[in-house]
Amino acid sequence: MKLLVATGNKGKLKEINRLLADAPIEIIGLNQLIDPPEVIEDGDTFVANARKKAVEMAQFSGMLTLADDSGLVVKALNGAPGVNSARYAGEHGDDAANNCKLLAAMEQVEDENRQAAFHCVMALAWPDGRCETFDGQVSGLIMRGERGAGGFGYDPLFIVPEYGKTTAELPLEIKNRISHRGTALRKVIPLLQKLAKK
Ligand code: IMP
Repeated sequence: MKLLVATGNKGKLKEINRLLADAPIEIIGLNQLIDPPEVIEDGDTFVANARKKAVEMAQFSGMLTLADDSGLVVKALNGAPGVNSARYAGEHGDDAANNCKLLAAMEQVEDENRQAAFHCVMALAWPDGRCETFDGQVSGLIMRGERGAGGFGYDPLFIVPEYGKTTAELPLEIKNRISHRGTALRKVIPLLQKLAKK
């Protein structure tokens, strides 16, 4: 069974590929499509954006499509950057600028108020417009400086207290075991397995 994974984000794609490695499916990347449309992420929620990406790409490609919308929700910033995580500092996907802006916004925030969570919504859409969503979260704290070279996005600033490490320091296996994306995707896998048997 073919599954289009509709993300241009290399970090997400690496994690999703690893999580789906044992599933009975052939993963198709956006780079294998000719002139895919650019989906504007203008929803107010992770669910709305994930649905929009999955449904538009399923209709364009004619394939079963998985899309992820995810981001960082910081309590002291009233939930920012949230659905704007990828473009928090302006340009879409500028991780270095986003991290710089987050550090500055959190500078005056006391240690006991630095709680945050990564959220992920995975949407699985069919070419006929049907769509189901699945979510996952992981809680942590925002650091005062970057640590670690793995992962992507805000990973160097997000520490998981149980491990004493940022998600940029955790090996991919461990990040996938505890992460928002891993949790959401593990909810999708039984459905993919059922569909692949049909
Ligand atoms: P999206 O493409 O709108 O879903 O943007 C997701 C953005 O959220 C990314 O560009 C990152 O800034 C952030 N993000 C989502 N998941 C992670 C993660 O696992 N680690 C670090 N940053 C993440």
